[in-house]
Amino acid sequence: MGTVSVSSDYSRSLLVASAAAGDTGDAGGSLRARIEASRVHVSIDPAVPGSATALEVLVADLRRLPVQLSLDPGHGANRLGHDLVDRLQDLATGIDPDRPLTIGGMPPSAFHARLGLDHSEADVTGAPDGHGASIRRTGHAFRSLRHRGSGLGAMLTAALLTGEVFKSVTGLKPGTYRQITSLDFCPVTLTGSDSVAPAPVHVERLALAGAGAIGTAVALILSMLEATGELIVVDKEVFEPPNVMTYSLGTTHDAARAVPKVDLVKAALPLIDVSAVHGTIDDLIARIDARQLEMPASVLGALDNIAARHDMQRIYPDLILDGGTGGRAGTTVSLHEARPTGPCMRCYFPNAPTGPSLEQRIHEATGLPLPRIARGDDPLTEDDLRGRSPDERRRLRPHLGRPVCGLARLIGLTADDGPVDFRPSAAFVAQQVASLMIGALIARSRTTNLGTTRQVEYDTLYGPHPDMVDGRRPHAGCYCQTSASVIEAVRQQRA
Ligand SMILES: [Zn+2]
Repeated sequence: MGTVSVSSDYSRSLLVASAAAGDTGDAGGSLRARIEASRVHVSIDPAVPGSATALEVLVADLRRLPVQLSLDPGHGANRLGHDLVDRLQDLATGIDPDRPLTIGGMPPSAFHARLGLDHSEADVTGAPDGHGASIRRTGHAFRSLRHRGSGLGAMLTAALLTGEVFKSVTGLKPGTYRQITSLDFCPVTLTGSDSVAPAPVHVERLALAGAGAIGTAVALILSMLEATGELIVVDKEVFEPPNVMTYSLGTTHDAARAVPKVDLVKAALPLIDVSAVHGTIDDLIARIDARQLEMPASVLGALDNIAARHDMQRIYPDLILDGGTGGRAGTTVSLHEARPTGPCMRCYFPNAPTGPSLEQRIHEATGLPLPRIARGDDPLTEDDLRGRSPDERRRLRPHLGRPVCGLARLIGLTADDGPVDFRPSAAFVAQQVASLMIGALIARSRTTNLGTTRQVEYDTLYGPHPDMVDGRRPHAGCYCQTSASVIEAVRQQRA
C-alpha cells in the first residue's frame, strides 16, 4: 500500500537519506518525491583560490541526489569560462544523462549553495583554506583565509556543502542533525586552522586498499592535489551502475563497460606511477612476497568489512590509515591509525563476524538465494520476489528498488548501531572520510612523531567537533601483542 518503487539510479543516495530521516518501509517513495521537488542552485566567486576545483566536486556530488540542479554562470569579469561550464555539464551528464545541469539564474525557492567568501549571498557558503574548509550560513562572517585552497581543501569544502544541502532537502527530523552555522576545519591538524601552507604532495611506498566509495574519493583528492610519486592500488571488483551514485570517480559509461575499479583510480592519477592489482589483498601480499611489488610503508585502508581489514593488517606496513563509514544511517565517518606493534586493525575490530553471517541471516529471513544476496548493490526487483513464499514476499515488497545489502537493517535484522559489515555510503560522506585519511597522511609526512596513535570519529550530520580525536593503545590480548616476534620476522623478510 502506497509503495513506490524507485529506479536503481538513486537508490543508494535515497537509502542513506531515508535512514538519516528515520524512515522505514514505504516512506522512501515520499522522500524521493520530496528530494525530486527540491531545487538546488550553485554559484561561485571564481576569485577565491581553489573554488573552481571545489565546484567540480560540488556539482558532481549534488548530481548524485535527484534534485533539480542549476548553476549560476556569473557575469562580467566573474563569468565562468566556457571550458569549465562544458566540463561541469559533462560531469553531471556522466552521472545522470537524464538530469542535465541547468545553466542560469536562481529559480524561485531554491536552496542556494555558494563557493565564495561573502556569507550574505547564499543559504550556505564555503571556501577552501589551505587543506581545510570554511563554511558559513547567512549572518556569519568569514575570517580571512590563511592559505590558498589546496585540492584537499577543495574536496572537503564541496563535501561539507553537499552535506548541508543533504540536510535541507531530506527534511531530517529535529534532533537528528545539526546545521553548520560557522565551521573552520583542517583535516591535517584536526583543528580550526593550519599554520603551515600546503606544500606539493609526493607519495612513495604507499598502497591504497580498496577502490570503492572511499578509495575513489582518496584518488580524486590525490588527483586534485596534483600529487606525484608511486602508488599501489588493490581491488578485486569492477565498476557497476549503482556505484555511479556513491563513488567519486566513474560514469554511467564506465559502469556499462564494467571497468575494473583499480583502472578508474589509475586513470585519475596521470602524475602518479600506479601499480594496479585487480585482485584481493592476499594477491597483493603474494606479489610483495614474490618481490614483484615493493613492500609499502603506509597503507590507506578504504575497505567496507572487518575480514578485509584483518587481511590488510597482514601486509604489516609501518602505518595503516584506515577510513570507514558507519552509524545508523551510514553517515558517521572514522579514521583508525594502526601500527604493526599495535594498535592494529584487530585491536580496533577484534571480532571477525562469528555465528551466521549477515548474508546468511538475510537469506533465512527473506528466502533470497545467497548468490543473489552477494550482489548486494543490485536493487531488489520483481524478479527477486518470484518463487518466494507469501510471507517472504510481504517482507520484501516494501523494499523493491533498494539495494539488497541494505535489507538487513531495513527489515530489522541488525541493531541500529550494531557492528554491520555493509553500510550504505553517500559520496559526500566517503569524501569526508578520504579527507581525514589524506589529512593524516600529510600530517605524518610533516613529522615522524605525532605522539599517540589516533582514532577520529564524527557524524557528518553534525560535522567535525573538538572531541572527535582519541588516542588508542594496543589491546593486551591481541595477536599484535602475543605474536610480536612473528610479525617482526615477516616485516624483516619483506623489507
Ligand atoms: Zn592488535
